[in-house]
Formats: sequence, structure tokens, C-alpha cells
Amino acid sequence: MIKFLDLQKINQQHSDEFKKAIGRVLDSGWYLLGNEVKQFEKNFASFCQADHCVGVANGLDALILILKAYKIQGLMKDGDEIIVPANTYIASILAITATNLKPVLVEPALNTYNLDTSLIEKAITPRTKAVMIVHLYGQCAYNDKVKEICDQYGLKLIEDNAQAQGAVYKGKKTGSLGDAAGTSFYPGKNLGALGDGGAVTTNDPELAEVVRTVANYGSKVKYVNEYLGQNSRLDEIQAAILDVKLGQLNDDNQRRREVANRYHAKIKNPKIVLPHIVSPEGHVWHLFVIRTENRDQLQQYLADNKIQTLVHYPIPPHKQTAYKEWNVQRFPITEKIHNEVLSLPISPVLTEDEVSYVIEIINRY
Ligand SMILES: *Cc1c(COP(=O)(O)O)cnc(C)c1O
Repeated sequence: MIKFLDLQKINQQHSDEFKKAIGRVLDSGWYLLGNEVKQFEKNFASFCQADHCVGVANGLDALILILKAYKIQGLMKDGDEIIVPANTYIASILAITATNLKPVLVEPALNTYNLDTSLIEKAITPRTKAVMIVHLYGQCAYNDKVKEICDQYGLKLIEDNAQAQGAVYKGKKTGSLGDAAGTSFYPGKNLGALGDGGAVTTNDPELAEVVRTVANYGSKVKYVNEYLGQNSRLDEIQAAILDVKLGQLNDDNQRRREVANRYHAKIKNPKIVLPHIVSPEGHVWHLFVIRTENRDQLQQYLADNKIQTLVHYPIPPHKQTAYKEWNVQRFPITEKIHNEVLSLPISPVLTEDEVSYVIEIINRY
């Protein structure tokens, strides 16, 4: 069986270093808001070329905290609109509704699966306050055009960077391209913890300060609460683990690129649409997503041949029961994507033989 993602194998590589890191935290007797988090925040900020990083409990919280902080700063208020791609993972949209803001869903481009920049201006109203781009599947969604629109209309540009840690646009890393970025260290992400984790990265010192405060009960000084806060902290053990893995993230992403390049060069089947690559350094291949008309049939065929695949994602947010008021809306490109996409196995630990086998089986389909 070729696993979709062999997390055990990925993390086993670091077993000795992890044990050392966890031992250090155990011996320190300090489990939250300590030196491990400080060190990791410094290193992850530097990795993203951002001035500030705030470790938080998960990726959804990272996005929620950014929006809450903007509200606290008076830059957004209840009912203001945030433009977001209709085909994103639901977390991006949940962050917007959870903070009493209004998601305005915009179709992605069919080739990149990222927000269709040419549709943004039509979606802007007097209540629009931000564009949230999502670097979906690991491909950078930022470009000069989206930045230009945000500047022209005075909108914040927020990145959902959960899937693209390490992707680059014209020499600049995701996580520092917009005004603020939220990322996730969910175990399956390119930089994954042994549990939940997330971070906000930004070049805006005031925003970072508010996010840090809100994430810690709205308190800078213990038992003195400035804001209506929440509890969303990255813990010391996860930070220590992430710091170990951060050292290898560029190599891991490079290995993902090699797998993707082989798939791209060797999969030749008229029934299958391969991913469109905007630029090689702009993609870190969190997922290798193909499209085909009879997706479920292809998935079954691959399963019969002992290749595990997943669908990212089977139901678009506007078709979810959680958002039943949107169920009547139509987003044809988004719906087509959800009906046709299939994610092939990809990871830094996939072997050459496994890649060859996947290629051979798909070409025989
Ligand atoms: C994983 C993910 C999130 C949420 O991260 P969690 O850590 O699971 O809360 C948000 N947005 C996108 C695009 C994701 O893939």
C-alpha cells in the first residue's frame, strides 16, 4: 500500500532530536509562553522574512486572531466584508463568520485553483475591508495585481498560509507578502507538529502585539485584561518539535518539488488534467492535485492498485449544511473543482520507486 501521507515515517526521522527537545521542556518545568516558543517564533519569522511571529494554538485561531485584532484596532466592525476564494478549506471562511464579519465568496481560476484576481474588483463594496488569499495546495496565490487592488481600495491583504510554508513570490516568502498571515502546524502540513499548532506572521508591530495579547486572555500583565481575549497558545513542547523540523523545511519542500516534477513530466493520460505551475519556487506542493471527470472511478482504480488518495475537498463551503443559507448560491468553477479533484500521494519521504509506481498505474488507467 502506498500511503497518501506517511506521517510516522516523516516524524521518525527526527526521533532522537524530538526526544532531546521534549526532555529539555520536561526538565525546564516551564510549559507555556517560554523560551522554546520565543526561539521558534524568532526562527519562523525569519524563515518567512516577516518581522513578527506569534505562536498560537492552531491555524483557524491564527486567522480568527488577525480579524479580531483588526476589529480591536477599529479597522473592521461587525458585518464588514472579507473577500475569500469560494473553494478554500472551510477554516478560512469559518474565521470570518466566527468574528461576525461577512465572507464574500469569489471564484478561483480553474487552472491555479487560487482566487481569480480578475474577479476581485467586481466583488468590492463600500463594506469591503480585506481580501483573504489562500495559497491553496501549496501554490502562492499572491501576485502584483492583488496587491495593487488592495492598495487602490485601501483593503487589508490577509494570507491563509496554512498550506504554503516556504513558497516564494519574486524572492519573497509567503507569510510576509500581505499585511498579516495565518498558518497552521497541523501534523499533515508541510511544517507539522505532533499535535495542533499555528502562528500569525506580520510586519505590522501593533497588529502582532494585539494578536499576542488577545491570544493570552487579552492580557499583557497577568490578571490585567485589556481586551476580550481567548486562550490560544502554542505550547513549549510543540514549539521545540517545530523548531527541529523547521531546520529541514526547505529540504523537505525541495523533495516535494522533485516528486511533483516527476509526476508532472511522466503522467501522460488524456483523461487527467495536471496542476498548473505558475512558477517553480512559488509552489511547495502541500498537495499534488489532479483533475478528472470520473474522479470517484479513478480513486477506486488507484485504491484497487494499492495507492491511497484523498479529495481536497469533496464539498465546497457554500454547499455545507453549516452554511445552509448559502446552499442556493452557484459557483460553477468551484463546484467543478470539488467534483473533479483528486490528491495523489506526495511527501518528502515518498520513494523514487513509489513515485514510479504511481505514474505507471495512472498512465495505464
Ligand atoms: C489546515 C488549514 C487551516 C486550519 O488549520 P488548523 O490548524 O487545522 O486549524 C486553515 N486554512 C487552510 C487552507 C488549511 O489548509
